[in-house]
Amino acid sequence: MTRPLSNYIDGAWQASKNADPLDVTNPATGDVLATVPMTPADEVDTAVQAAAEAFPAWRRVPAPDRVQYLFHLKQLLEDHLDELARTITEECGKTYNESVGELRRGIENVETACGIPSLMQGANNEDIARGIDEHMIRQPLGVVAAITPFNFPGMIPLWFLPYAIATGNCFILKPSEKVPMTTVRLFELLDETDLPGGVVQLVNGGKEAVDTLLDHDAVRAVSFVGSTPVARYVYRRAAENGKRAQCQGGAKNTVVIMPDAELEMTTRIVADSAFGCAGQRCLANALAITVGDAREPFTESIADAAAQRHVGYGLDDDVEMGPVITGDSRQRIEGLIGQAEQEGARVLVDGRGQQVDGFESGHWMFPTLLDGVPPAGDTAQTEIFGPVFGLMHVDTVDEAIALINKKSYGNMACLFTSSGAAARQFRHAVDAGNVGINIGVAAPMAFFPFSGWKDSFFGDLHAQGRHGVEFYTQTKVVVERWPDTWSRTF
Ligand code: NAD
Repeated sequence: MTRPLSNYIDGAWQASKNADPLDVTNPATGDVLATVPMTPADEVDTAVQAAAEAFPAWRRVPAPDRVQYLFHLKQLLEDHLDELARTITEECGKTYNESVGELRRGIENVETACGIPSLMQGANNEDIARGIDEHMIRQPLGVVAAITPFNFPGMIPLWFLPYAIATGNCFILKPSEKVPMTTVRLFELLDETDLPGGVVQLVNGGKEAVDTLLDHDAVRAVSFVGSTPVARYVYRRAAENGKRAQCQGGAKNTVVIMPDAELEMTTRIVADSAFGCAGQRCLANALAITVGDAREPFTESIADAAAQRHVGYGLDDDVEMGPVITGDSRQRIEGLIGQAEQEGARVLVDGRGQQVDGFESGHWMFPTLLDGVPPAGDTAQTEIFGPVFGLMHVDTVDEAIALINKKSYGNMACLFTSSGAAARQFRHAVDAGNVGINIGVAAPMAFFPFSGWKDSFFGDLHAQGRHGVEFYTQTKVVVERWPDTWSRTF
């Protein structure tokens, strides 16, 4: 019997009336783990109403008291880390260690949001004119919502929820319908913190649920993480409806390998970035540009690393890479490798058509290495979102930077070198919001903004840290005069 998942509305679990739930499938085994409701508009409306009703009381809870719920949540997440990590691996496919890693980054955001009493402070000046003082205070917006993707079910909801509620908002999460079980467990833990009803809501579903949130008058702000076409759509529709929006989209991240890069370390780090999480990471290295003499040694060593990667079920020991999320996804990736060949790329390591013994129903796509990806072709521009790594070769770092800056995406760019001058030039000139120098996954810590640029981000305030606090608050400026005569009268 598969488990039917529910929504969490107004402090209670509620089964959806939706008669056509989707299966949630383990991508390694093909087993159906649960069913998830595609919540209809009227039930999403109930969730928004519950949040709106809870808001006036919640915003008046003092910030130091609001964060006590987050301290409790942090402890619960630590206590249930193993179980949560297993759930992520079961529904999402990544390895157990990768699941623990993403939970650690999520918990870091809970910890950072516990500092809201300081982070939310305003500013003031005494005597901006004689006897007149001016104060800027931060107030919550009201009801806010987040829509999240399949590839980090434990971490990405926590880029938003802790900051939203710590600043005094009531929050609605619409997770990916492909991986809803981790979020259900997160909300079970939130329920144990005894947060007042209506402060957090979980609404499962797809486009109808998202559109209802985007069109709802009571929703003041929308956070989104997912593919670029949907990010652009959500940003536009939210803005048309007068909402704040921060929408993180897709990526095609490039790493530049200089001839003076330390080969062994570079290969290990770049392979982890390209093939970790089966390449389904918005900060995955998807392309490498070798400069000058780096070409031959790097091509050889990355081909070895790709061919040797141990692919299998993420809960099994020593597995370094799991399956991709669905059969459709595998088909799409294989199609894009075929397209790359037609454009002139050579397949040096071919991960198509592979199986893992004992897991014949899994969506297996092994590491693939493409050499000579033509810079002007589609392969160089398209997000593949799988374990496919392309190589290009140029003579100077300037050429490499120019190729990166022509791309429409700007999520991350990395450089491997032992030259401080090359590193300085790169970080100054490259058009990407997250930059790694001898780092393969330049994921900002929770107290820094997750700074995508160009088609990787629509909005101005990013997720995490102070940007999150600013996104979830509106500033109010008070100019104040208290004439001396009044104090003398009484
Ligand atoms: P997706 O865009 O398919 O789905 C994301 C969310 O949007 C899901 O909750 C989904 O239900 C909803 N959705 C999908 N289609 C919709 C539509 N037409 N209208 C309204 N809502 C819709 O993304 P995904 O496949 O779940 O995730 C992978 C993508 O996310 C990749 O492109 C990856 O680069 C990106 N991503 C970006 C970041 C980042 O920080 N920039 C982080 C993680 C993932």
